[in-house]
Amino acid sequence: MEKTFAIIKPDGVERNLSGKILERVESQGFKIVAMKRTRLSKVQAENFYDVHKSQPFFDSMTRSMSSGPVVLLVFEKENAIADWRKLMGATNPADAEAGTIRKDFAESIERNSVHGSDSTATAVFEISYFFAQSEILS
Ligand code: ATP
Ligand code: MG
Repeated sequence: MEKTFAIIKPDGVERNLSGKILERVESQGFKIVAMKRTRLSKVQAENFYDVHKSQPFFDSMTRSMSSGPVVLLVFEKENAIADWRKLMGATNPADAEAGTIRKDFAESIERNSVHGSDSTATAVFEISYFFAQSEILS
């Protein structure tokens, strides 16, 4: 069984979309095996998105990610990484397919409601960045 890491971003939490998003997750066969609500510091957001540090949107995006509470999650499912990316939809909601979370809920490319790991190595790093093994219960 594969695990992936997800975030309901500040724009999603702020607009009370956590329940609607998690309803889709569970109905698509993902098991929520870890979950916590917290607020990221600017530095935590910067280290988390370190691969994007040379991008022009880096400062604004990490400010947005640390602007309010988030929900941190680990999902388990066969092909969890690819299937969660598919359920999220394209980074820019304008390009996202009908029925995806970003198409239905995201406000813009920056306020795009959810995050998902993009590879096995990323998922391992991201899960361990936020969760202790004892907090992950299959
Ligand atoms: P995430 O990593 O959050 O799941 P992603 O993998 O779809 O999103 P990335 O390319 O990793 O997209 O970009 C990380 C985040 O940076 C995006 O989710 C988005 O919020 C922000 N971002 C990406 N490109 C832009 C852009 N051109 N302008 C503003 N923000 C952007
Ligand atoms: Mg990404």
